[in-house]
Amino acid sequence: MSRPYNFSPGPATLPESVLQQAAAEMLDWHGSGMSVMEMSHRGRDYGLIIEQCEADLRALLAIPLHYRVLFLQGGAQAQNAVLPLNLAALKPQRQMDYVVTGSWSQKSAEEALKYGDAQVVAKADGYTHIPNPATWRLRPQASYVHLCSNETVHGVEFHQLPDLRALGSGAPLAIDFSSHVLSRPLDWSRVALAYGGAQKNIGPAGLTLVVLREDLLGHALPICPSVFDYRLQANNQSMLNTPPTYAIYIAGLTLQWIKAQREGDLTGLAAVEARNIAKAQLLYDCIDGSQLYENRVDPACRSRMNVPFFLRDESRNAAFLAGAAERGLLQLKGHKMVGGMRASLYNAMPLAGVQALVEWLREFERQS
Ligand code: PMP
Repeated sequence: MSRPYNFSPGPATLPESVLQQAAAEMLDWHGSGMSVMEMSHRGRDYGLIIEQCEADLRALLAIPLHYRVLFLQGGAQAQNAVLPLNLAALKPQRQMDYVVTGSWSQKSAEEALKYGDAQVVAKADGYTHIPNPATWRLRPQASYVHLCSNETVHGVEFHQLPDLRALGSGAPLAIDFSSHVLSRPLDWSRVALAYGGAQKNIGPAGLTLVVLREDLLGHALPICPSVFDYRLQANNQSMLNTPPTYAIYIAGLTLQWIKAQREGDLTGLAAVEARNIAKAQLLYDCIDGSQLYENRVDPACRSRMNVPFFLRDESRNAAFLAGAAERGLLQLKGHKMVGGMRASLYNAMPLAGVQALVEWLREFERQS
């Protein structure tokens, strides 16, 4: 069976070999006689699965030993509340600084207002660029600074994270890395906490990853629900409540797939990153070289993962999408907030998929 290329922003395409392995193990995981779905999260077999998943995540992202990994539920949007519930009180003023570069960080800032003095300290008009960090109005007493390191809807990515200390802020940096986690390495010297939903680059919806520095544990507000208290979850190996067991298992298979990737001399995450750079370059070059298509994001912060683009003649949108679907190129319609098109090029999208998309872009332009 040949599968279509699925450019969905998430839930998104997964490596075919991961799906095949999950299918092969569906009824009987490693001779246990059970599906992973049917296992107790406290049993020995499941313990092996979650421990391996954490070990592989730590190895791939080079997570330092003084950071903890939590496997939670609720999605990235729950973290918009959970983060302030846990970190607002790091300082008595409960100031939280938000950098807004797209709709997801805007949502985060709005939710945080419920829990303290959340302020937008920098905002990109039109969400097509990242304001120069030297102009951010960071507050010296802020409990933390938040940003979204890849804006899924607007296609804006931080290719370098800010060095808050160099900007005069001693606050920890918290990032929403939902839509580019594991697409590139992460500089933990600049990040105190990172969170993200799994349903783009890691696995199925239902799993939310939180990776945080140990000193951030233990500051939750009294009203914080226990299952969302980072310290309680860290002390209970993410098993204060039942974790999303099957989603963690699939995430583990995806991590093993990343480890096994090769690209020239590169292996693992470096190989995946090189491929992501090549895929994005191919698509942006095609868009920039055409008369029909345009991407409006500052080239310095164009996302490798999510590429929004527009047809200069919007009346051709439906014909473009119909022709794409006929060629097995699916889920290219842009977010309703932005319009136009969007191609999401997560790790599991092969180069061949982007080549097929580029061929269609060229063919459609010739026909127009
Ligand atoms: N942040 C980002 C960057 C996202 O892309 C998304 C989902 N598209 C969310 C947050 C919300 O995630 P969830 O639906 O898992 O709450």
